Amino acid sequence: MAKAEADGSGIVYALERLSRLMRAAEFGNGLNPAQWEALRFLARANRFSNSPGALTRYLGATKGTISQTVKALERKKLIEKSERPGEKRSVVLRLSAAGTAMMAKDPWSALAQSCDALGGKTRRRMDRGLAEVLAQEVTRRLGPTFGSCTTCRFWRAEGRSDDALGPHLCMLFDEPLAEIETTQICIAHEQAG
Ligand code: SF4
Repeated sequence: MAKAEADGSGIVYALERLSRLMRAAEFGNGLNPAQWEALRFLARANRFSNSPGALTRYLGATKGTISQTVKALERKKLIEKSERPGEKRSVVLRLSAAGTAMMAKDPWSALAQSCDALGGKTRRRMDRGLAEVLAQEVTRRLGPTFGSCTTCRFWRAEGRSDDALGPHLCMLFDEPLAEIETTQICIAHEQAG
């Protein structure tokens, strides 16, 4: 086992090296790292966040770069574009069946399995610690948090318990939220106090 550093530098070196290794692994299956990132985002984004604009903010890239990435994924038939219902000039991006199948080959899945294999206590501590560091970094850079509903100040657990599309409520969009949607990420997420 590698010797632990007395300060946080060991973690930073490990994160840097890991991300470099993962970036290199993302050149497989005819895709590049930007295309994998976009697929991963669309696999997790909720219905308020599956747009080119949200993808641009999530990746912190320019509009032009995202537009090229979206075009490439469309050409490869991994994503589908459609009009957002009731909003003629807004576009919805979704994974196609081929895109969903591609996600099973995501090189980061192997890393998720390695994290899982660390065991409950280590994994939970690592999860908490990294989430904390990430939140600090997002705040420092004034970026959107892209968290999920259960940690958002607009979420009400029983807000739409009588609604077939509920039982939860998003106070911001005034929309019911199903259980499955609470695991997705959102561009409008604001951390609950
Ligand atoms: S509750 Fe928050 S995270 Fe969930 S949909 Fe509403 S704004 Fe987004």
